[in-house]
Amino acid sequence: MRLSSLSVNTKMRNCANTTNPQPCAGGLLQIDAYSKINLILDVICRRLDGYHELRSVMQTLELHDTLTITSAGEGFTLTCSDKNLPTDDRNLVTRAAKYLIKQHNIRQPISIHLEKRIPEAAGLAGGSSDCAATLMGINALFNLQIPLHSSNQCPSLMSIGKAFGADVPFCLMGGTALAEGIGEELTPLPTHPPTTVLLVCPNIRVSTAAVFARYDPKNSSPSNMQAMINALHDSNVADIASNFSNDLTQITTKMHPKIDEIITQMKTHGALGAAMSGSGPTVFGYFDSEESAMYAKKKLAHAGRVYLTSVKAVRSTAPNA
Ligand code: ATP
Repeated sequence: MRLSSLSVNTKMRNCANTTNPQPCAGGLLQIDAYSKINLILDVICRRLDGYHELRSVMQTLELHDTLTITSAGEGFTLTCSDKNLPTDDRNLVTRAAKYLIKQHNIRQPISIHLEKRIPEAAGLAGGSSDCAATLMGINALFNLQIPLHSSNQCPSLMSIGKAFGADVPFCLMGGTALAEGIGEELTPLPTHPPTTVLLVCPNIRVSTAAVFARYDPKNSSPSNMQAMINALHDSNVADIASNFSNDLTQITTKMHPKIDEIITQMKTHGALGAAMSGSGPTVFGYFDSEESAMYAKKKLAHAGRVYLTSVKAVRSTAPNA
């Protein structure tokens, strides 16, 4: 079955619960779940509810996981290529699938296989993206007609996704966007020009909660948000790369100085710019050619897991059953 993430969500449903929806497309659908980076991550303040108010420019990358969703087996099952990742309710795929099964009275069996390529807990939103792909995939396979956005009280994929994590709405939308609030208020930005991206994920464990707990907005320096938005409008890759910034870098690099070393090495080996994504530990760098990125990839191979990828202009589920 082929579909576009946006085309399946254009019809408004009337909020009525579906009764025993049947699978279409021969009961099989494949959907890709893309990673993201933060070109800018400004932490504005700590809110009364404990979350932090953010302002971030987010960008989808080609590096992706793949979910194969089948209406087969018994009840709900999740299998995963990464044997270290739990497949029970700790996995966002399981939680999102069970939510839709319950809300829409799906009585048909659902099996999902998750082919994991995005490194886990890396600042690349792998779990959030798998969650978004699960919501979109089951919505399409069972023709649930949940809209991407909703202007009334009816649930939308965006509102459902937000409940699973602040990055899920961006993963549903994809492309290039300004994210505000806790990350869920999204404004599309101009399409990012094609760019080769190198990711280096050092083998260290970073706790997002611990990083935010240590963050003091008083120590933040103003980012070049307007310059970044102008650079996107101008489609100028060098200007985009020279305006990367991330308020959390000061905290994460204090805990793990290796991250700062990787940023410096990435630039020494030819990156137009380099920065940490999210709360880390992954560092990304932009390159003006695949050759120069390949060179840096070899030089940085000792620093952790390295991935050569590129920016993805718009989200496409590209199912290829
Ligand atoms: P973000 O950038 O959104 O903060 P991240 O890239 O740092 O996310 P994830 O890969 O999304 O981190 O994983 C964060 C946590 O979510 C991990 O502790 C992991 O066990 C859990 N998790 C739940 N489901 C998944 C999944 N499908 N893939 C990866 N991690 C998952």
